[in-house]
Amino acid sequence: MENVLSGKVVILGDQGVGKTSLILRYLEKEFDRHISPTIGASYFSCSVAIKNVIVKLQVWDTAGQERFKAMTPMFYRNANIAFLAFDITRPETFQNIQNWVTELNGNIHTHVIMIIIGNKSDLSNDRKVPREEAIRYSNGIGATYYECSSLKNLGVDRIFESAAIKLLKHLD
Ligand code: GDP
Ligand code: MG
Repeated sequence: MENVLSGKVVILGDQGVGKTSLILRYLEKEFDRHISPTIGASYFSCSVAIKNVIVKLQVWDTAGQERFKAMTPMFYRNANIAFLAFDITRPETFQNIQNWVTELNGNIHTHVIMIIIGNKSDLSNDRKVPREEAIRYSNGIGATYYECSSLKNLGVDRIFESAAIKLLKHLD
């Protein structure tokens, strides 16, 4: 018997950290894009199979509203999961994660699963954010930390699988 469960994922983070690349990389095989004209954002649907459960994720991506004040709370309303992404070579994008967390907490009053993503792990020679620091920060706010390279397709699948598993556990 197959069960189906669905959830909304929003991806937040500064411009240029690789949010769109991450989504497109994951969805390479399976591609279903929609645009919401009301908020000028796009969303993608994908399914992750976890044992006998199909977890359908609707992943929302921003398009140029990356500055906090420009983003409408409609974007993350009803989100079950937030991906908070930064670029490991740009420390200011890591510092800004805290602003995204504050923004989320101020607008969503239900539980949101937070996954922090250090992207561009292929650029390890230019790394400016130590992995340990990112882990410490993430654990401190009850989030999980992952690193990946959307460019080299390293660690990307794991992030979506983790999101699906957490959603499954949370909704159980
Ligand atoms: P967004 O503004 O957060 O959606 O970022 P984009 O997905 O548009 O990516 C911004 C730039 O970073 C583009 O030039 C991408 O090719 C590049 N980029 C994205 N992911 C990676 C990565 O994992 N490694 C490297 N080296 N570059 C990346
Ligand atoms: Mg983008």
